[in-house]
Amino acid sequence: RAKDEGRNGFRYYSEELTARAFERVLLESSLHRALERDELELFYQPQLDLVSGELRGLEALVRWRHPEMGLVSPGKFIPLAEESGIIIVMGEWILEHACTQMRAWQQGGLLDEQVLISVNLSPKQFDQHALSEMVGGILTRTGLSPAGLELEITESTMMRSIERTRHVLGALRALGVKIAIDDFGTGYSSLTQLKRLPLTKLKIDKSFVSDIPDDANDVAIAKAIIALASSLSLEVLAEGVETREQQDFLTREGCHTGQGYLFSHPLEVAALERFLLALRGGG
Ligand code: C2E
Ligand code: MG
Ligand code: MG
Ligand code: MG
Repeated sequence: RAKDEGRNGFRYYSEELTARAFERVLLESSLHRALERDELELFYQPQLDLVSGELRGLEALVRWRHPEMGLVSPGKFIPLAEESGIIIVMGEWILEHACTQMRAWQQGGLLDEQVLISVNLSPKQFDQHALSEMVGGILTRTGLSPAGLELEITESTMMRSIERTRHVLGALRALGVKIAIDDFGTGYSSLTQLKRLPLTKLKIDKSFVSDIPDDANDVAIAKAIIALASSLSLEVLAEGVETREQQDFLTREGCHTGQGYLFSHPLEVAALERFLLALRGGG
């Protein structure tokens, strides 16, 4: 009897696996289709100087405009794209699209060349062969200046193999591109290693920003990250700024750049252009 159960258990397990594999194949092919049918879209979230209100950068955040499901957030499909490897083609599309858009805004006089475009890189993209050649090729094709591009990677991506990370970041920095650590504070960076990497910015994770100034722990962590950035001569930016209190706290503590719903949600192209015009008009 025990044997039967085992066999049934096994059969059940393998059917379950087949169903999941099937579901994955379906989703994967629809992600391919999304790319072919041009269903992916970039939204842009402004990054501002917290004191002067001037625009410092835009973060490109991908969405999937699905014909039936509507706007699908990256949290729902980036992990799958990552798992299946489609992220390589998708990531290249995202980068090229973001650089092309930036260049068009610069040439149209909507943005000055000091404003950065930040693009997220997933772990698999970071590992891809000839990443810096790919990035360099896109910069050449689009005509965007390397100093206008910032790539965001997470601490966990960075800390897997420190020697490889040093090598890859070195090649990207040699192009003139900037490197930000996204969601900083949520991973396990070693300070020794941080110091040895050619970084340009730390982005304080929004989980530490959301409860300041009330949560003493978050206040301490945010202050520590700001101090760390300063001692490593890195820029620092706070994510998820939603209130005036947070803005004031950050400014007081020396973090002078931020992004968050207080200033703007990520915006689709037309809405972002209105935002830029209003900013330029001082309105
Ligand atoms: P992330 O790079 O840390 O992006 C910040 C996320 O915080 C975005 O979510 C943004 O909409 C959200 N956010 C901005 N301001 C606020 C705020 O004031 N409060 C709160 N609660 N949230 C805020 P989104 O767009 O859903 O993206 C989620 C994650 O998906 C990103 O986190 C990033 O890891 C990934 N992702 C997005 N676009 C791309 C992409 O083009 N490539 C890759 N590889 N990953 C991407
Ligand atoms: Mg990011
Ligand atoms: Mg983040
Ligand atoms: Mg908290």
